[in-house]
Amino acid sequence: MTHSHAEFQAIAKTLTPNGQAFIDGAFCDADDGDKFETTNPATGQVLASVAHCKSNDVDRAVAAARRVFNEGTWSRAEPEHRKEVLLKVAGLVRQHAHELAVLESLDTGKTITDCLHEVGTEVPNFFQWYAELADKTFGKIAPTGPSALALVTHEPAGVAGAVVPWNFPLVMAAWKIAPALAVGCSAVVKPAEQTPLSAIRLAALMQEAGVPDGVINIVPGFGHTAGQAIGLHNDIDTVSFTGSTEVGRMFLRYAGDSNLKGVGLELGGKSPFIVLDDAAINDDLIEHAAMSAFWNGGQNCSANMRQLIAAPLVEEFATRVCERVKAFQLGDPLDPNTDIGSMITSDHKTMVMDYIRSGQDQGAQLVMGGDSDLPGYFIEPAVFQNVTPDMKIAREEIFGPVLGIMPVQSAEEALAIACDTEYGLHASVFTRDIDRAIHMARSLPCGTVSVNGFSEGDIKTPFGGYKQSGSLSRDNGTEALAQYMQTKTIWIST
Ligand code: NAP
Ligand code: MG
Repeated sequence: MTHSHAEFQAIAKTLTPNGQAFIDGAFCDADDGDKFETTNPATGQVLASVAHCKSNDVDRAVAAARRVFNEGTWSRAEPEHRKEVLLKVAGLVRQHAHELAVLESLDTGKTITDCLHEVGTEVPNFFQWYAELADKTFGKIAPTGPSALALVTHEPAGVAGAVVPWNFPLVMAAWKIAPALAVGCSAVVKPAEQTPLSAIRLAALMQEAGVPDGVINIVPGFGHTAGQAIGLHNDIDTVSFTGSTEVGRMFLRYAGDSNLKGVGLELGGKSPFIVLDDAAINDDLIEHAAMSAFWNGGQNCSANMRQLIAAPLVEEFATRVCERVKAFQLGDPLDPNTDIGSMITSDHKTMVMDYIRSGQDQGAQLVMGGDSDLPGYFIEPAVFQNVTPDMKIAREEIFGPVLGIMPVQSAEEALAIACDTEYGLHASVFTRDIDRAIHMARSLPCGTVSVNGFSEGDIKTPFGGYKQSGSLSRDNGTEALAQYMQTKTIWIST
């Protein structure tokens, strides 16, 4: 059922967000009582004071997670039991979709339409999908002669840490929690400091669904406090991190400086959107171009911000993209007619505006967009033309609504520019020629290549990055399970 702006505002008024940590099945303050505030970036309104967890609190959470892991009530439960409980989590999230979506929208400045889709559809689907895998994940038997039986088995890795960013708070948390719990791990999760509220609410729903105490723990805090404590903890077996490449490096160092825990990394990107000269510039392509760049206000790791367009098509493409982008409505994130909400913080807006100025200083042409007069941290989606590959706006991840259009003379030039980056998360390619599509898809060093449409895939397909966009780990798909499982060979002489 679709709600009106007024109905979403009414839901917002009923919310009293809880900012406590959730450790060992109980909501609690940080050990030292320290708190920080989380605000609505669209209005500046303080939403809740939040427990500022530090290493003591992470220690308590890890101790609870280890205790229950060793007890086996979850880790060695029948897989059908874990399935049933995680299916209940999915059901409860669906039941509370509107409340959770409004909470997410308030805490992030994301549009209610996106939040409803992410929180109300994607998140429960993740729990459901991994719940269903819990009793369908098999080991194997290796071929041996008659003198041995060799079993290759999987066991839950133990205590899983997860540190997640603010751009898709509950989706990113669910990407980690659902597969970790499906295979029997217990988890300690640190949401981003700007957006802790939905993960805290999820913990209550997970408890209601029957997830045992200690199996899910939420430790809100800052990167250098709770985040670092998770990275450096000697009793966390594996950590899955989504965020910037810079912090991803720290997680590898943390592992090296502590217990060599497994580290899964999903990091930044600077993804190309390539239109070859045989492509048709139609409404569909323009919609993908605009959405690939400006979905979530461009605060998306796989945003296609380098749009490499065959030179003969570039004028038509730029004109039509700008027409489409002009139709995006900026405004109150709780209004279902809003397409683009607020940037996450004032500092983030300043950083994005600095990039826009650098584009102008380096000679790119700002065709539309830039600063917005709206209160809050809004930016009108910005489109640059005449961008060259050496410019800062063409090289660095901006993580805001700044699209750069670059003309290219050939498919090979598009490929060369697309590959000339430290990142390798995503690429889109548009062509009507299947041979060229396959050639480009095979040649691009990226975790996901979408052809004739911008897509990150879905829950069934692995997501992650080549080069400095990640490690060999993947989120989503059956591949995600590997982040949370040990492989054991049992060799039986017969
Ligand atoms: P970030 O600064 O790396 O933060 C991500 C998380 O790491 C937050 O919870 C943060 O805590 C924590 N953190 C920060 N410093 C830390 C430290 N020294 N030790 C341990 N943890 C630390 O990234 P962000 O700005 O929130 O998010 C944007 C980045 O995420 C972009 O680069 C984007 O491309 C990437 N991203 C990647 C994917 C993907 O799947 N590949 C998906 C979404 C986003 P605080 O909240 O306290 O800073
Ligand atoms: Mg917030």
